[in-house]
Amino acid sequence: MSDLLERLRGRGWRMTAQRRVVAEVLDGEHVHFTADEVLARATARLPEISRATVYNTLGELVSLGEVVEVATDGRAKRYDPNAHHPHHHLVCSHCGAIRDVHPTGDPLAALPTSERFGFTIREAEVTYWGLCPACTGT
Ligand SMILES: [Zn+2]
Ligand SMILES: [Zn+2]
Repeated sequence: MSDLLERLRGRGWRMTAQRRVVAEVLDGEHVHFTADEVLARATARLPEISRATVYNTLGELVSLGEVVEVATDGRAKRYDPNAHHPHHHLVCSHCGAIRDVHPTGDPLAALPTSERFGFTIREAEVTYWGLCPACTGT
């Protein structure tokens, strides 16, 4: 569970019923939805919500820096509400499902100085590729 709604309230984001539903959909689960998935879930909660509102709200949350667009391998972008918590991603190479993961150990420390080529490194983002349980058929 992210704290997206709390963060948006904290910064005085104009919270209409429609915009709130979009934020709630993103906030609700520890997975990252595509815009179409957000639209489907938002419509289930608030049937009168428009596609344009969902897309505009997503764009606005991204430009506020409260939601991050995650692009994987030419698939539809996914929206990540955990913008302020460093984490890594587990990606299903079959269906594109993404989960946040928090491996033990520090991936920055794992890169030896000889492999840094003089870079000052700010952060590391690791993507673990594989098959999700649904795609493995287990
Ligand atoms: Zn899958
Ligand atoms: Zn994430």
